[in-house]
Amino acid sequence: MTLPPGKLFLIAAILFGAALAQAATPATPPAAAHHLVASGPAGPAPLKISTASKVVAKHRSTGRKNQRTTTPAVADDWTLTNDGKVLYLTFDDGPQVTYTPQVLRVLARHHAKATFFVLGREAAAHPELVELARSQGHHIGNHTWDHPMLTHLTPKRVREEIFSGVKSKCFRPPYRDTNAAVAAVAAANHQRQILWDVDTNDWEKPGAAAIQHEILRGARPGAIILMHDGGGTRTQTVAALDRALTVLSARGYTFRSLPC
Ligand SMILES: [Zn+2]
Repeated sequence: MTLPPGKLFLIAAILFGAALAQAATPATPPAAAHHLVASGPAGPAPLKISTASKVVAKHRSTGRKNQRTTTPAVADDWTLTNDGKVLYLTFDDGPQVTYTPQVLRVLARHHAKATFFVLGREAAAHPELVELARSQGHHIGNHTWDHPMLTHLTPKRVREEIFSGVKSKCFRPPYRDTNAAVAAVAAANHQRQILWDVDTNDWEKPGAAAIQHEILRGARPGAIILMHDGGGTRTQTVAALDRALTVLSARGYTFRSLPC
């Protein structure tokens, strides 16, 4: 049987699409945050950045220190290519009726794209806010349904919390509370675990100036920055974001969504 050229092209396109889909599926459970490969604008040699290793995260509700201080294992098939000064702004615990729209307005003003790690319960209550963020080019990640400490739950409850969150290619465990079993559940749900490089501690409401300082202090090519649009009053976060983006834009940074 001889196929007409048009049909051959169609089959080739389908096969190529299947190969792409295969490539997009993580082959191994991601054990930790992310892997960044940055190419400087002038340099041909890729600069490998492993930015997540030095972060010592403070536990959100108890203040205890996260004990992870070593370089995390990373999956190889998820690389963030940036051409210099790119930052990945992330906002957790929303959507929230007052502050999510304010964050979106600030982002729009600075031509910035970001990633919102939303709670399933809040997304279900305010689907229009999730849609608004998506419609403006931002990406959505899964932050569980109800924001529990996952390592304290039974395997069944961990699955329920992760699987009932929003559909996304990315998952962020609340309180950075995770282990191999949690990461494996996320991977089974086709979601890569994303942590962060820079914790602004904005949830502590230390003042807009302090939050802005943390953003500017942590800014470096490819860094993932953690802020919150939900979970409390976020006036300081909104103000700090606006000022920080003004400074960082002047320094030549651009702001992109994670591939979620
Ligand atoms: Zn959270």
